[in-house]
Amino acid sequence: MAEGTRGPGADADPGERAAELAANLARVEERLGAACAAAGRAREEVTLVVVTKTYPASDVRLLADLGVRHVAENRHQEAGPKAEALADLPLVWHFVGQLQTNKARAVAGFCDYVHSVDRIRLVDALASAARNRGRELRCLLQVALDKEGADAETASARGGVAPADVDALAAAVTAAPGLSLAGVMTVAPLTGRYAGRPGAAFARLEEISSGLRRNDPAATMVSAGMSSDLEEAVAAGATHVRVGTAVLGVRPRLG
Ligand SMILES: *Cc1c(COP(=O)(O)O)cnc(C)c1O
Repeated sequence: MAEGTRGPGADADPGERAAELAANLARVEERLGAACAAAGRAREEVTLVVVTKTYPASDVRLLADLGVRHVAENRHQEAGPKAEALADLPLVWHFVGQLQTNKARAVAGFCDYVHSVDRIRLVDALASAARNRGRELRCLLQVALDKEGADAETASARGGVAPADVDALAAAVTAAPGLSLAGVMTVAPLTGRYAGRPGAAFARLEEISSGLRRNDPAATMVSAGMSSDLEEAVAAGATHVRVGTAVLGVRPRLG
């Protein structure tokens, strides 16, 4: 069998898949440990969130057996039924996908943390959904670092609030009953001044987080770093890394 994350995959027999996930998880844990040591941080300062999108509930169950507690999804149609099928497990569910306002209700049904809050209308929709469900939703502001200064002209259409608008959005979350401000999130930009420089992008996110924490000391979460750049994220101060491929394998291309 080849090294790395390519193994028998999600349709292998459960024993083989469990062994594969255990090996991948151990490798990610090793990387996180080394990154924390290099940054002079305690390993407990960084939470591993495993992004399980496109992989079956059976994989999530195996991961829970291996000690994973935080999982993330990016499509509510897939995530809702998965969370329901796994309701017996002590999992914390994170939502990391772009979110339409009319899907806020569905997300509020299964989710503890929403990492992709990027506009006031979505804040309003999430707040009324949270109140209807009688649960509190913890919100992270997704910051689009390619929507800053001159880069804004060429920014991608991906989600995220421009850094200049973070304070106003934070105030809206803080004021909304049913929501709490948990922190900030970013995806390293593919264009603009941070293209190919995830470390610089994550350092900028940390700066934005510091500004936010001056007003709201409880907004401590910094969600940054994926399979390819988790070391840079840990070095820059991330409290949560979102890792998919390195744990579960290369996702089949969608549609
Ligand atoms: C899919 C996804 C990840 C995980 O990416 P990998 O490269 O597979 O580790 C992290 N964050 C977001 C927002 C994602 O959509």
